[in-house]
Amino acid sequence: MTHPSSDGLTDFIPAERIQELLDRAPATPAEVREILAKSLAKRRLELAEMAALLSVSDPALQEELFAAACTLKKTVYGNRIVLFAPLYIGNKCTNSCVYCGFRAENRQVVRRTLSDDELRAEVLALIAKGHKRIVIDYGEHPDYSAEVIAHAVETIYATKAGNGEIRRVNVNCAPLDVEGYRLMKAVGIGTYQIFQETYHRPSYAAMHPRGDKADFLWRLYGQDRAMEGGCDDVGLGALFGLYDWRFEALALLAHAIHLEEAFGVGPHTFSFPRIKDASNRALDPAYAVSDEEFARLIAILRLAVPYTGMILTAREPAALRRRLLAFGCSQIDAGSRIELGGYSEASAEQDLDKEQFRLGDCRPLDEVVGELLEAGEIPSWCTACYRRGRTGEHFMEFAIPGFIKRFCTPNALLTLQEYLSDYGSPALREKGAAVIAAELAKLPEDAGKSELLARLAAIEQGQRDLNF
Ligand code: SAM
Ligand code: SF4
Repeated sequence: MTHPSSDGLTDFIPAERIQELLDRAPATPAEVREILAKSLAKRRLELAEMAALLSVSDPALQEELFAAACTLKKTVYGNRIVLFAPLYIGNKCTNSCVYCGFRAENRQVVRRTLSDDELRAEVLALIAKGHKRIVIDYGEHPDYSAEVIAHAVETIYATKAGNGEIRRVNVNCAPLDVEGYRLMKAVGIGTYQIFQETYHRPSYAAMHPRGDKADFLWRLYGQDRAMEGGCDDVGLGALFGLYDWRFEALALLAHAIHLEEAFGVGPHTFSFPRIKDASNRALDPAYAVSDEEFARLIAILRLAVPYTGMILTAREPAALRRRLLAFGCSQIDAGSRIELGGYSEASAEQDLDKEQFRLGDCRPLDEVVGELLEAGEIPSWCTACYRRGRTGEHFMEFAIPGFIKRFCTPNALLTLQEYLSDYGSPALREKGAAVIAAELAKLPEDAGKSELLARLAAIEQGQRDLNF
């Protein structure tokens, strides 16, 4: 993989200013309420405003903040939750990330790269469960060039069985050069995501002592190059537990503002993984993020950048995920396996010597779907926007009046109906039918609803992939 150089790139994360903002006195209730009103008007916050929300420690004010995040989530994203699964393809790695089970020095981990046949077996196992959206994951290694990754994406899209197919492949791999991203665009990837891990440079240096990943700026500009290469749905993230979580939260906002300023488009998603146990590694608890702090982080990120989707992964345990969904998460993975070959060769137990870290929520997809339906959420496998060319304009679903009503909710219902018809047990179908009926009852009697009803009926008759 080419790693030209980060010479000439400048750091756009204003670390000193962020540190100053974190040292501020707690915000007054009036100040906080004014900022919450701005968020609820769906306007992105500035660094100082986000810092004010981070300064809140009064429990009653904290509750107001959580309530505002819940309201924003409901008004912007409605009650649909997009479901996906991670697919690990290769875990060879030349880097030494201190927190990761795949780091080069870890001789205990079993190294493996899926062959095309093994990859197809994994995809078949995923689509047999009903998955339509995946994110593929790689270590950083010369074997995993842009060409190799592009070939894997093509192999995944070409693997179909019955009504099953993967319709959106997102990619989480080491940062590429612009040519590499052009190739990603050409093979039709969904989101390109990469996490800066920590935006605090001394911590970054300590956590990434060797290998290409030691170059902070090359990684920081990964999303810029992706945009230049035509991948305009990009995901940002930080690994929480490496440094002060409030610093990372402000840096994520600074990164989003940079993308807005440079490309006129903010990030498609935020990821905020918390560090979990990994093979052969001791955890340093210094910056561990408690569940309560994690809840605050999610609510404040939601309020700071209302237009960006938020991904809550199965690193977190089921009960916590249930609570945190309400604060603004719009995507979750379910039925996830992160050992290489884990879907087609599934063993009952997690094995840390085959995985990058330990998962907290190992429930199968249909169980998670059932739980979401019981909670009145619409599980969604929608992939319509990027397949219809609605990419990049992240302000769209959020700022264009009626977008959710015209596209998101109908597409969520259509993909739910597909899932129920193809994979649902009788009990799940019953629960699903109730949620679909409740959602339909909320829609006005117009041409859009008639068309939706016709398409739902067509799906029950066997048609597939009907989207708006
Ligand atoms: N190897 C590529 C890279 O480092 O960018 C691809 C991503 S890696 C497969 C996915 C992400 O997992 C990393 O970016 C990191 O944030 C996260 N991760 C690594 N070790 C972890 C751990 N012990 N607990 C939780 N997340 C971890
Ligand atoms: Fe390799 Fe990525 Fe793990 Fe770092 S986080 S050791 S680059 S797989």
